Amino acid sequence: MKIQHKLVVIPLTVMLLVSTITFVIVERYLESQLIKRNIAELTVLANASLESVRTLETIGTPSDIAHSFQRLAENFSHAGNFRTTYIDANGRVLGDSDISFEQLKHIENHATKEEIKLALDKGQGITERYSSTLGRSMLYVAVRTSEAHFTDSNSHLAHPIIARIARPTASINVAINKLRGTLFLTGVLSLFAVLTLSLFGAKTLNKSVEHSKQLLEQRVIDRTTEISILQSFSGLLNACSTFDEAGEVMNNVIPKLLPGFKGSISIIKSSRNRLDHITSWGGDWTGADRFSPKECWSLRKGHPHISTEFGIQTICQHWEEKPSEQTLCIPLLAQGETIGVLHFVVPFDTDLHEKQDLYNAIAEQTGLTLANIQLQDDLHEQAIRDPLTGLFNRRYMLEALDQAQSRAERNSSEISIIMMDLDHFKLFNDNFGHDAGDHVLKAVSKVLKDSLRQEDIPCRYGGEEFCIVCPETTKEQVIPIAERINKGIRALDLNINQLSLGTVTTSIGIAVYPKQAASVDDTIKVADEALYLAKKNGRDRIEVFQSGDKKTEAKVEIPTSNIKSI
Ligand code: GH3
Ligand code: MG
Ligand code: MG
Repeated sequence: MKIQHKLVVIPLTVMLLVSTITFVIVERYLESQLIKRNIAELTVLANASLESVRTLETIGTPSDIAHSFQRLAENFSHAGNFRTTYIDANGRVLGDSDISFEQLKHIENHATKEEIKLALDKGQGITERYSSTLGRSMLYVAVRTSEAHFTDSNSHLAHPIIARIARPTASINVAINKLRGTLFLTGVLSLFAVLTLSLFGAKTLNKSVEHSKQLLEQRVIDRTTEISILQSFSGLLNACSTFDEAGEVMNNVIPKLLPGFKGSISIIKSSRNRLDHITSWGGDWTGADRFSPKECWSLRKGHPHISTEFGIQTICQHWEEKPSEQTLCIPLLAQGETIGVLHFVVPFDTDLHEKQDLYNAIAEQTGLTLANIQLQDDLHEQAIRDPLTGLFNRRYMLEALDQAQSRAERNSSEISIIMMDLDHFKLFNDNFGHDAGDHVLKAVSKVLKDSLRQEDIPCRYGGEEFCIVCPETTKEQVIPIAERINKGIRALDLNINQLSLGTVTTSIGIAVYPKQAASVDDTIKVADEALYLAKKNGRDRIEVFQSGDKKTEAKVEIPTSNIKSI
């Protein structure tokens, strides 16, 4: 049996049982009350009829007296549906309303009747018995006069006189049955009402239980789907190795978890004074692309911030206020460090507390992934860069050169290689110390970074030697670059701790792949040869390799006075 059925059937059974017991008790009580009332009524009538006896002329011939009692009995019973009988102390029936005077003569002596014996003995007698005279069951109440009432010792009456009032039990039973019927009808109607109400209640309860069940089932389905998507989100994010890839995953997955939400991620730069927007989803992002950590309340507070809460509006400066929207910013944390912020923009009436766990789970996973990518980036940077100058190291340069070679072969383009060595650098160390030497190396590296294009690869080749790979660059294109570097370094105003270090010059050798060497490695070698020549020819100059395995190049006219060719 279903629980809700039990909830209805059990109370209903109990109610039915209680109702039946109550019905029986009430019915018995009312029946006894009705009988008591009848007895009381008959007693009052009996006493009243005795009072009437006083008015009788009880002295005379027995026939006169009998007539008087008979009339009195008949007259008294006229008032209602009852039988009046007068009996003397010897049990002689003096008058009876329900039989004729003639019948009266033949009526049996009543001295043995129970109610008469009791009346004579105790003053009052009550019995319910079958009347052989009337042939039906009757309720009798008999009372007697006190001895003092009749002192007419000359009369033929044996004192005291008994007045007996009787009513057919059938008439009492009719009243009882009527009462019983009314009671039963009331009970049935009440039960019907209770049953109807119970059924209605049960139906309503059933509906409500069913509705709650459906809601619960839907919530379980939603939660399961959410967990599955979150797991897949986590798996995809863990496989990402760049911010762009992570942004792509967020772009695809988060709208499935939070439909109708606009969102974006901003990452804190290593300088820690700026955040850059890296990705957004759910619609056009109209927030700032770059902003300071101070412009976001969540970063200031160190925990999530809702722009409108408890009727108070505190909108972050990086977001343009719109009355129809509200924002949620959650700091992205990894190993206790804030690495960025996750923004959500939702319609104003959205309850942002409802899915707080989900937002936090997304923020937690995103934070870990981005921190991981950042760590990988840092490690990668460390692996490919020279720590002193920030330029690429030799290993990375050789890998990049391989890739550039493949591209050049595919595109039939050229790669220019610049080899560069600082002139008399040892003197800096000798004269000003190693720190001064490092300072010069950093200053020279900055000139390289500023003079080169995005696609060029500047590398620290050895101590104070540099190699610059310029993909898809001809000799004519690389010479101005080399010249810019040469001039830029010569123009450096070197000083450390307000101590002037003088100037530094550089010697440069250039070679072009594939025109001047069969491989990129050979191109480096011949560029080195050109550099050697630049040193040999007096330093602070540029030499372009002109002969070798592929000595096809003619001497190029170079607009700078200090550029020489081998
Ligand atoms: P040249 O014009 O012939 O190239 O003369 P040079 O003095 O530059 O060449 P040399 O090879 O004699 O000296 C190179 C010096 O560079 C020697 C070394 O002390 C210095 N050096 C190499 N790496 C570093 C570095 O990381 N820091 C500093 N401060 N000095 C370095
Ligand atoms: Mg040198
Ligand atoms: Mg050197």
